[in-house]
Amino acid sequence: MEDLKNLLPNELRDFMVSLGQPSYRGDQIFSWIHRHFASSFDEMTNLPLPLRQRLKETAFITRLNVLSKKEGSKGTVKYLLETHDSNAIEAVRMEYEYGITACLSTQAGCMRACSFCASGIAGFVRNLTASEIVDEALRIQEDVESFGAHVGNIVLMGTGEPLDNYDASIKALYILNSQLGLGISFRRMTVSTCGVVPGIRRLAEEEIPVTLSVSLHAPTDDVRQRLMPINRQYSIAQLMDATAYYRERTGRRVTFEYALIRDVNDSDSHAYQLANLLKQQSAHVNLIPLNPIDERDYMRPTTARINRFSKILRNASVPVTVRRDLGLDVNAACGQLRRRYCR
Ligand code: SAH
Repeated sequence: MEDLKNLLPNELRDFMVSLGQPSYRGDQIFSWIHRHFASSFDEMTNLPLPLRQRLKETAFITRLNVLSKKEGSKGTVKYLLETHDSNAIEAVRMEYEYGITACLSTQAGCMRACSFCASGIAGFVRNLTASEIVDEALRIQEDVESFGAHVGNIVLMGTGEPLDNYDASIKALYILNSQLGLGISFRRMTVSTCGVVPGIRRLAEEEIPVTLSVSLHAPTDDVRQRLMPINRQYSIAQLMDATAYYRERTGRRVTFEYALIRDVNDSDSHAYQLANLLKQQSAHVNLIPLNPIDERDYMRPTTARINRFSKILRNASVPVTVRRDLGLDVNAACGQLRRRYCR
């Protein structure tokens, strides 16, 4: 059985041809799926009945079941979605001045086990398919369309490591980019990684102008190793080489995420080390005050400490922003809602 939501328009055309149909049927079906949110063939009223019957026998359309929606402040809504095999996954809808952003998960669980992150605690379950990742965005689009808005930005910053599920994650971006579907520009998409170096290099060669966001969280291997097991596999030096390569190949400035954790990575000297590390990179730093999770006793620094940390970076000419507290009240830190549901 072919999962039609996994297919790009040209693949859907080929599939139609393989069924002895004219290729334009592929475009009609793509539009039913991605513009009209169809999940059954009976809805596709411009297809002849025998074709609909044939499709029922050869194909299906993935659709996630919406388990719950939790509204937070500032237009943030957290979606808890269920896959056909009963995995709960999360997607978050955020509203900025420049439109709706959909934050999507790429895996059920995560194998990277960063110590401050809720997603890795229960371990890895499985990779999501491209169709499931795309459907997270479609569930959100269907909702916001009812008030005349549309999803204009995609960030792969939900549960999971997108570069550990490279093919499906990047395919989902191509599908979301298609003009016959949501038509979201690659420049409005962000791939966030904990530092999977070969994946960064592969993405650099993909030649799509997405923004790369690297979860750095520490200026030295010593500190990073304690927070993020992946640092034992790829050191900061290797990571910096890969991000420099990314910038060189794509011309895109890389963003570095830095979750500030009280007494762990938030001192003045950490800030100076970070500034030093990034001064060659022409990078942007996004400081995220830690969202504390129940399972660990990490705390967020005081506002004064956060301000001092960002000031040191700014004085060293490193562009820095402090992430707004979107979603804190809907448990939008990675995996927190899913955790609550699963236990
Ligand atoms: N695996 C990818 C994408 C998912 S995490 C990555 O690591 O980038 C999205 C971002 O949220 C990452 O920067 C991650 O480090 C951060 N994050 C996870 N748990 C957090 C927490 N408790 N508080 C603040 N940020 C957190």
